[in-house]
Amino acid sequence: MRLRNKPWAREKISAHPQYIIPNPEEAKGHWHEIFGNNNPVHIEVGTGKGQFVTGMAKQNPDINYIGIEMYESVIVTALDRLIEAGLPNLKLLNVDGAELLNYFEKGEVGRVYLNFSDPWPKSRHAKRRLTYKTFLSLYESLMPEGGEVHFKTDNQGLFEFSLKSFSEYGMLLTFVSLDLHNSSFEGNVMTEYEEKFSAKGQRIYRSEARFQPRP
Ligand code: SAM
Repeated sequence: MRLRNKPWAREKISAHPQYIIPNPEEAKGHWHEIFGNNNPVHIEVGTGKGQFVTGMAKQNPDINYIGIEMYESVIVTALDRLIEAGLPNLKLLNVDGAELLNYFEKGEVGRVYLNFSDPWPKSRHAKRRLTYKTFLSLYESLMPEGGEVHFKTDNQGLFEFSLKSFSEYGMLLTFVSLDLHNSSFEGNVMTEYEEKFSAKGQRIYRSEARFQPRP
C-alpha cells in the first residue's frame, strides 16, 4: 500500500467518533453496547480502504463488522465510504492489529478476516505475517471456541505459508480454493487489491480455518 501524507486525516477521523471509535481501549468488553445489539462481531485486520468490510456490512445486516487499519492516511478512505453508506453495523478502528488484546475481551470476536495481507517475503520477517503463529494465538484469544479465520490473497508464497501455519497450529481447514474466481464459492465480496490483481489475470487464493477445542 503506497502511503500518501494526508495531514488533514487525523482531524477528519476525530470529527467522526460514531464511525472511527475514539479511545478504543474503552470499547473493550462493550462492543455489543456500541452496536446496540447482540449480533456477532466480525473483524477484518488490515482493512485498507474498506471496500470489503463495507460490502460485507451491506450484504449481512445481522452481523456487526469492525475494520482495523493502522494507517490514518488509509483508513480515512474507509471512513469516507462509511459516511456515504451510513451503515449502523460497521465501525472502524485505527489501531495496530498486533495489539488487539487491548480492544477486545475473550469471546467478543466471532470471526477474523485477513485479506491480501502484506506478504513480508523475507523469511527473517515471517513473524510479521498476519498468519504467523503468534497472530493465530492472538485471534484465538479473542474468539469463542470454534472461531474462524477467513483469508484471501493473490500471493502463492504467503498462501502456502499460511496453510502450513494454520495446520501446525492445529486448526481445521474447512475451505481451500486455489482459484476463487473460478470456483463455486458464492457471495464473494471483492477487496480493492482483489479487484486490482484479478484484473491483471492473477489467481486469488482463499481459505477458511477453524480453531479446535483444546484437550
Ligand atoms: N485488505 C485490503 C485489500 O485487500 O484491499 C488492503 C490490503 S493492503 C496490502 C494491507 C493493509 O493492511 C494495509 O492497509 C496495511 O496498512 C494494513 N496492515 C498491515 N499490518 C497491519 C496491522 N498489524 N494492523 C492493522 N493494519 C495492518
